[in-house]
Amino acid sequence: MRGHSHVIKPLLDKEYPTVSHGRGVYLYDIEGKAYLDGCSGAVTANIGHGVQPVIDAMNEQAKKVCFTYRSQFTSEAAEALAAKLASWTPGDLDYVFFVNSGSEATETVMKIAIQYWQEQGRTTKNKVLSRWMSYHGITMGALSMSGHILRRKRFIPLLEEFPSIEPPYCYRCPFNSTYPSCGLLCANQLEQAIHRIGADHIAAFIAEPIIGASGGAVTPPPYYYQRIKEICERYNILFIADEVMTGNGRTGKPFGIDHWGVVPDLMALGKGMSAGYTPMAAAIASRRIIDIIAAGSKSIMSGHTFSANPQSAAVSLSVMQYIEDNQLITRAEERGIQLMAGLQALMQKHDIIGDVRGKGLLCGIEFVKNRTTKEPFSLNLHVTERLIEKAMQKGLLIYSASGGIDGQAGDAVLVAPPFVISEEEVNELLFILDQSIGEIE
Ligand code: PLP
Repeated sequence: MRGHSHVIKPLLDKEYPTVSHGRGVYLYDIEGKAYLDGCSGAVTANIGHGVQPVIDAMNEQAKKVCFTYRSQFTSEAAEALAAKLASWTPGDLDYVFFVNSGSEATETVMKIAIQYWQEQGRTTKNKVLSRWMSYHGITMGALSMSGHILRRKRFIPLLEEFPSIEPPYCYRCPFNSTYPSCGLLCANQLEQAIHRIGADHIAAFIAEPIIGASGGAVTPPPYYYQRIKEICERYNILFIADEVMTGNGRTGKPFGIDHWGVVPDLMALGKGMSAGYTPMAAAIASRRIIDIIAAGSKSIMSGHTFSANPQSAAVSLSVMQYIEDNQLITRAEERGIQLMAGLQALMQKHDIIGDVRGKGLLCGIEFVKNRTTKEPFSLNLHVTERLIEKAMQKGLLIYSASGGIDGQAGDAVLVAPPFVISEEEVNELLFILDQSIGEIE
């Protein structure tokens, strides 16, 4: 019916509160209820809400120009943002292709990897291997790389099966082993997959340094990425770090992969890059890759209408500047230590908590029916959904990370507040979480 429009919400039969405004780590609905943003929305609002220098930067740029098209102009804002990113990224990851979402970023790095080999006449190198229990985005190329069972299921006939190895999921080791005696079987499996598929068919391997949405801050053991990088180099396969969730300071270092001291060949960013103030994301390539493409067809075969728009670039630049000026990466590290200690204390108290994990302000909690056997809850009990709902009633937002592996990693949530959260606010978060868990167990 014309003139009768509705926003399509995630659940079509559910009522959602209408937001009024946000300040710091709190969001307020139009009824005046406050919500402590314990997950930065979708692990995005890294500097909290209503930050004045970002609003000022937004206004300043809007007065100059909001949109230009990438084949006609560059902008001071986009150039300055690329330079700022290059000063944060490890190694020679200096070349930035701006896009608008994490899914676009991972699809773009996938295409750059394939093109890199094509330019050198290696046209069969066009698969991008990945892990089960991973999430790289919802568009078809990104979903092909994603080992997220629930999100793939409906579209399987349209997808490439790029996930080819098990995740580094120590809590439920897919090999029934324990670190370090396992000898990193999960990383070594990449070599077996390469033998099976053939290095001549593989352009790259992609991984989230810490698994976010499909498992709840699943953190690989020491040396995992060093081994992965070694294997990639041995077989001439590019290593892509999907830093959409872990990037821009979230884990207490500039990028998640920095915890392992490894330099990827390509990187995807999104979410915290603009801290949610405008849509902005990036595919970042090392100089070596861009040099090859520049010497060949001279253009990356991808792009979007809104790529590199000056408005989002100015916003993201001011977000990064704000993080630097206020030493918010150190803050994420420090508050992360406090949050993790609090979650461990909750684990002592609530038997349904099987594991707590993560780094910095990217923390995960996995719930189990039986802590000793690690038996998961049956999925139809909807434990995480009930917890999220309960917490929201009490004024706390947390994020679902369930559904990555059917019936195995049943129930996990992410707790990932903005970096600006204070010590008292972390305590408040833990208090509401404690109460909410108590009411669903
Ligand atoms: N990659 C990772 C690691 C993510 O966590 C996400 C989103 O959760 C994406 C990619 C996709 O990003 P977007 O939702 O902005 O398309």
